[in-house]
Amino acid sequence: MMQRALFSRSALLAQQAAAALDSPLVGRSASVLQRMDHRSVSSVTIPPPACMLRPLEVPMRYLFGPGPSNVPPRVLASGSRPIIGHLHPEMYEIMNDIKKGIQYAFQTENNMTISMSGSGHAAMECAVFNVVEPGESVLVAVNGIWGERVAEIAERMGANVHTMVKAPGGYYTKEEIEQAIEKHKPVLFFLTHGESSAGLCHPVDGIGDICRKHNCLFLVDTVASLGAAPIFMDKQKIDILYTGSQKALNAPPGTAPISFNDRACYKMFNRKTKPISYLFDMTHLSNYWGCDGNTVRAYHHTGPVSGFFALRESLAILAEKGLEESWRKHKEVSAYLYKGLEDLGLKLFIPDRDLRLPSVTTIAIPEGYDWREMLGYIMKHHQMEMTGGLGPSIGMVMRIGLMGYNCEKTNADKALHALADALKNCKKSKA
Ligand code: PMP
Repeated sequence: MMQRALFSRSALLAQQAAAALDSPLVGRSASVLQRMDHRSVSSVTIPPPACMLRPLEVPMRYLFGPGPSNVPPRVLASGSRPIIGHLHPEMYEIMNDIKKGIQYAFQTENNMTISMSGSGHAAMECAVFNVVEPGESVLVAVNGIWGERVAEIAERMGANVHTMVKAPGGYYTKEEIEQAIEKHKPVLFFLTHGESSAGLCHPVDGIGDICRKHNCLFLVDTVASLGAAPIFMDKQKIDILYTGSQKALNAPPGTAPISFNDRACYKMFNRKTKPISYLFDMTHLSNYWGCDGNTVRAYHHTGPVSGFFALRESLAILAEKGLEESWRKHKEVSAYLYKGLEDLGLKLFIPDRDLRLPSVTTIAIPEGYDWREMLGYIMKHHQMEMTGGLGPSIGMVMRIGLMGYNCEKTNADKALHALADALKNCKKSKA
């Protein structure tokens, strides 16, 4: 109201100014104008957009898709703490806490453990840009969108990219991986642990040994699985591991933990060329995060201060709860969800229960239904996000994510109720 009143006053003043300019007293127009609201003499030609004069509106939604997930009050509250300088000692302390929290979540003792100022993609690019030089061979396991994405990132920076491709939901045996590594002799092998586009949790055991045997680095994406399914960076001989903040960690999107072991550090700090990205160059980031042994941390970029507060709190919640309890809970709630989905007559997309990703469940699109219509109905009538497939799984699946804070049987009930309602009310396109 107040804004509208101000604005119409401003329009009135503008009319008065125009009238003054037309009058015989035009010589005095400058002083007349000076006495008027400064907006009527503004030098800007583009007015403030009406949308910016309205208050911010954010609806309450059940985020039961593959992320972002709803955020617990403690994490939300951390984002409203006062901003401090990104190079203040208190901030370094918070970053040190984050580093320890990531080491716990990843089960690693790696010193080179940081968070990217950016989403999961920033960590993907950081990993590839730092350990691969143009012309070097990279092998990527593709079984959904994330392998496709990493292959493209590596291709863009000039790597010699080889892919092993399976349909969404497919997975690779150790023999297949070793054969491909022997053939392509990559410096880096990429695998997605939690393929959120297909709902698959890929086995990891033994692959690190194969990579070591062939002098290749093992890079694993746990954006959709960290905190929901067991991963042991050191024990499983993973050389580079990354995740995102907005899934089972339940922080807002925009930060992405990543860790490099000594093998990865050796490769990235003995390269002949500089990484193509300045922002993601680990020589700078390792100093910014106090990982390079230097007592002075120099300015490199301004980190997302509030985002780091939230990440710290989300890692603290995971530490308090305990990884094993978090894994157990995701398993229990996902099993409950599977049963409810089957009771509704829905078919789970990943037939082997041991290969299902506990954080993101995929169901085959029910015969005769339009998945977009169902998802639209659920959003409209239940204020609930579920999603369709992504990349190669589009048109194959619908995805339900119950991660971290959202991972509760009561939420599974809500999701099942919404699905049952959609099944009843969404017109069948085929008989
Ligand atoms: N990897 C996986 C497995 C993901 O699920 C996602 C996000 N859906 C990403 C990478 C990319 O993360 P972001 O959207 O945060 O960049």
